[in-house]
Amino acid sequence: MEQFYTIQGEGFNTGKAAYFIRLGGCDIGCHWCDVKESWDAWQHPPTAVDTIVENASQHPARTVVVTGGEPLIYNLQPLTTKLKEAGFRICLETSGAYPLSGEWDWICLSPKKFKAPLPSVLHAAHELKVIVFNKSDFKWAEQHAEMVGPDCLLYLQPEWSKADEVTPMIVEYVKNHPQWMISLQTHKYLDIP
Ligand code: SF4
Repeated sequence: MEQFYTIQGEGFNTGKAAYFIRLGGCDIGCHWCDVKESWDAWQHPPTAVDTIVENASQHPARTVVVTGGEPLIYNLQPLTTKLKEAGFRICLETSGAYPLSGEWDWICLSPKKFKAPLPSVLHAAHELKVIVFNKSDFKWAEQHAEMVGPDCLLYLQPEWSKADEVTPMIVEYVKNHPQWMISLQTHKYLDIP
């Protein structure tokens, strides 16, 4: 759908320069989705893997973030193989609703209520990032924290349109449950892509 060089704004890799590769296509249907234009893959003509890697290589950072849409609706092995050959550290942002494909240095799993994550992706995640839209999401976050591996980092992130309301709740929650950390969409505060 689009490619751009920016700063990773959220989660464990916050603040690091990275080349973003956003794949079109998603059938998860989050009502608060901020990239609804990504949903219909047919709106976004395919780009050759070699072109994507060449474009990424034009920038100094050697980190890419593959996001969507939901990237795992595709077999990502061809893309990640070429990115690896070009020397990139490769991060994935996924809802986990589709089987894992490709080789990853970092997997950020952000589960969605509308389509449950697969156990195989839960086990492989380096980072569990739960979007908090209302109070009931804390319980839902804990349910998913029980399903990830023991070393998986746990993040709670306010849903952007509800940030004023839910951020104070997250602050209190993290103070009382310090196994969790706060993730903020810092790119939105910085007004960068
Ligand atoms: S999974 Fe991501 S891209 Fe898909 S609808 Fe939800 S927020 Fe939007």
